[in-house]
Amino acid sequence: MLLKEFKESLAKKKNESEISLRRVEIFMEYEVGDIVRTKKQHPCGSKLWELTRVGVDFKLKCLGCGHVVVLERPKALKAITKKIK
Ligand SMILES: [Zn+2]
Repeated sequence: MLLKEFKESLAKKKNESEISLRRVEIFMEYEVGDIVRTKKQHPCGSKLWELTRVGVDFKLKCLGCGHVVVLERPKALKAITKKIK
């Protein structure tokens, strides 16, 4: 293998591992049972939600009234402003 090719393949591997690491960080950021705060408050007046599912979709249960919403991950990540615990 040429040195140039070797370097390129190393660079590619490094890049891939960084991307997957970042992916893991995003996935690890929230866990089922976490209490989060959202930008918009629910009509019941609560801004706190419990995560009941974390995956491709996020399921959030309103701590004020118990209402459950399902959001796609990107929407959920945008809506959530803070993790309480
Ligand atoms: Zn509510």
